[in-house]
Amino acid sequence: MLRGKTALVTGGSRGIGKAICLRLAKEGAKIALIYARNQEAAEAVCRELEALGAEARAYLCDVADYAACKAVTEQVKADFGSLDVLVNNAGVTADGLLMTMKESQYDLVMDTDLKGAFNMIRHATPIFVRQRSGKIINISSVIGLRGNAGQANYAAAKAGLLGLSKSVAKELAPRGICCNAIAPGFIETDMTAGLGEHGQKLLESIPLGRVGLPEEVAELVAFLSGPGSDYITGQVIAVDGGMSM
Ligand code: NDP
Repeated sequence: MLRGKTALVTGGSRGIGKAICLRLAKEGAKIALIYARNQEAAEAVCRELEALGAEARAYLCDVADYAACKAVTEQVKADFGSLDVLVNNAGVTADGLLMTMKESQYDLVMDTDLKGAFNMIRHATPIFVRQRSGKIINISSVIGLRGNAGQANYAAAKAGLLGLSKSVAKELAPRGICCNAIAPGFIETDMTAGLGEHGQKLLESIPLGRVGLPEEVAELVAFLSGPGSDYITGQVIAVDGGMSM
């Protein structure tokens, strides 16, 4: 389904991003993955992708850095010869109650989770426009739909991603480019590993009664990356066990 296509996945070294890389590789895509700190993990994912027969490369890039995103996007195009799918998955949390949240906590999450997606879309779009095709998939969160005490920064960034996705979808639809957002619920990764008692409460709020797996988010990314979703744009699709109902 994605044979000959190149997918750029931010935050592809762990968790949901890693599952997305593996799933898209199984569809035949070449994978460029971006990581922020952990080179060893990123290289290990590349080896797994190569074992599946995919061409894969890891790029160190802070998605919050506009100029670095420009450089890496151009490098990916030069290395792979094309860019067809952009998955904005990189994200961080820096939780805290509003009354005590530091400016730096707010800025870190907004810069990574929201501006990071803008940066990547901004630099990938000229490539998509020239080829008159492209798929952009932004990984938001159920928290962006519902808000959450202790996550005002994260909720603001993830809700912002929804406005960004819909605006990009409207602006780029005449050029044959689709942009959609996925809102995962509680997915089993490093990000949710330390939730403890709070995690138990979250679990009770999931109608399907269990946490989700990274692979279950990756499945939807594969669909939104391929030709089967060519008539879908500007949508927000939850993968959350019914949490956002
Ligand atoms: P993880 O913490 O497991 O992985 C985060 C990934 O993002 C890593 O690959 C990390 O790279 C990368 N990253 C972090 N900061 C930057 C940066 N500044 N520049 C480039 N890459 C960066 O996260 P998850 O897999 O759990 O989450 C992935 C996405 O899904 C996030 O956007 C998250 O908000 C969203 N999400 C997750 C949910 C969950 O329950 N897990 C629920 C809803 C949404 P490195 O390894 O180098 O640090």
